[in-house]
Amino acid sequence: MNIHEYQAKELLRRYDVAVPNGCVAFTPEEAAQAARKLGGPIWVVKSQIHAGGRGAGRFAGDPSGKGGVRVVKSIDEVQANASQMLGATLVTKQTGPAGREVRRLYIEEGCDIARELYLGMLIDRATSRITVMASTEGGMEIEEVAAHTPEKILKVAIDPASGIQPFHARRLAFGLGLSGKQVAAATRFILSAYRAFTELDASIVEINPLVVTGSGDVIALDAKFNFDDNALFRHPDIEAMRDESEEDPAETEAARHALNYVRLDGNIGCMVNGAGLAMATMDIIKLYGGEPANFLDVGGGATKERVTAAFRLILADPKVEGILVNIFGGIMRCDVIAEGVIAAARDVDLTVPLVVRLEGTNVELGKTILRDSGLPILSANHLADAAEKVVAAVRAHQKKGGK
Ligand code: GDP
Ligand code: MN
Repeated sequence: MNIHEYQAKELLRRYDVAVPNGCVAFTPEEAAQAARKLGGPIWVVKSQIHAGGRGAGRFAGDPSGKGGVRVVKSIDEVQANASQMLGATLVTKQTGPAGREVRRLYIEEGCDIARELYLGMLIDRATSRITVMASTEGGMEIEEVAAHTPEKILKVAIDPASGIQPFHARRLAFGLGLSGKQVAAATRFILSAYRAFTELDASIVEINPLVVTGSGDVIALDAKFNFDDNALFRHPDIEAMRDESEEDPAETEAARHALNYVRLDGNIGCMVNGAGLAMATMDIIKLYGGEPANFLDVGGGATKERVTAAFRLILADPKVEGILVNIFGGIMRCDVIAEGVIAAARDVDLTVPLVVRLEGTNVELGKTILRDSGLPILSANHLADAAEKVVAAVRAHQKKGGK
């Protein structure tokens, strides 16, 4: 799960990580009020969307070419910029061409930037450790730095048995070319951020830029958190920060029904039980020249309701031109799946070809139920047969002019 910058900074503040003062605002009036409260003389009006690159982003249809992060010098300007930004669509490198509507702003006190650095923490699967990364190349995308000047990224892997130690943080601080009281400030910053990372079950924390101010303070000017969904039950306060308007509605709906769904770019919708079988199904669709529209694991104990929900989810994707249902009925019975498929197909008024491959408990009963339903369902006998049939059916359907 992702959260907004202002929420990330609120969490960092709880761990005594230095961040500038700021207030969230949902309306231009709230923005002006926030600015008054902060005092000035310089404010930064920051678009809150779950995507980076806001500073260099552009608003759709705005010829002024101003970005999603604006430094201003009066309360009137805060309000005027807030009016322009709220409700407008911000397009950044990370949002894709469709952009994101800005619904919240963060009004922050201005900051006297001497240097922009980068600090990141993530779980590195190669070393099975939390790795702290730092770079002198703050303010730009770390992927760019990694691609062109990888030597400018310092990495320290933390042994989970010892946890982070002051020497780890100092090594990074010296590596960033800090000196004097900046080293102590950066060390405190890194140790506290690491504590936030581990205690909050984060999977990524990114501070870009981490700023050294004119007076030598080290503060987080931007903050991004990503959390391990499997640990969210331990953090109801973080769960409460969820902004559903920033999430793919299909994935939100899937989570509500405990379905594992990931939208992809192809046109063949897949409904499968078991993540391994779902991966194999996507592979074999590609082997036969098709492209999967999604990954969807309905899980082991799916009910008729869940199958129906899964079906609706697949069909809600306008790219879908055919569906492959591939279920191994081990815990789940094939007749229950068949009932679910039929109920859902009737419910949604199916207009694209549907291929069903069932195997396992009550398979014959399941196949009979499908056959007797009177619906145009193509039954398949094994995985390759199913993939071949769905790819062919989609092509035939396209030739007839699609949906
Ligand atoms: P991002 O573009 O989505 O990563 O948003 P950031 O929060 O990183 O802001 C983008 C850039 O705006 C930063 O790299 C800074 O250069 C600039 N910026 C942000 N806050 C301030 C501020 O308080 N003062 C000044 N002068 N620049 C700022
Ligand atoms: Mn940033």
